[in-house]
Amino acid sequence: MSFEYDNQNIFAKILRGEIPNKTVLETEYSLAFLDIQPQAPVHILVIPKGLYVTYDHFAQDASDAEIADFTRCVGEVCRQYGLEKNGFRLIANAGHDGVQDVPHLHVHVLAGRRLGRMIESASQ
Ligand code: 5GP
Repeated sequence: MSFEYDNQNIFAKILRGEIPNKTVLETEYSLAFLDIQPQAPVHILVIPKGLYVTYDHFAQDASDAEIADFTRCVGEVCRQYGLEKNGFRLIANAGHDGVQDVPHLHVHVLAGRRLGRMIESASQ
């Protein structure tokens, strides 16, 4: 399966340094930064630096080193914020049905309060 990557998406611009971000952690292959519109007291986005649209794109085409780095980056963010104590939620939206707004793979790290139900009823 081939995936088409849109170079003009907002996270591509962040990676190119064209748009500022509040960086939490940067590793060789990944970047973690604060979400601009937080949905919880802790809301961090972790993205690979490679140009991958969705999680399945990443799983298919990323190198083992990129995948390991990304996975560990998510874990390190959790560790830095002490999230092992009360827990957290990871979300990776993909495509139309997943209601993905930005077409560059990102994992949402949400924490800091007890979160609501995992899936809201259909609204659109
Ligand atoms: P999605 O709906 O694609 O899973 O989530 C996209 C996320 O990116 C949203 O939570 C949104 O608030 C965040 N976002 C959109 N534009 C920007 C931006 O320019 N900077 C940052 N830090 N986050 C953004």
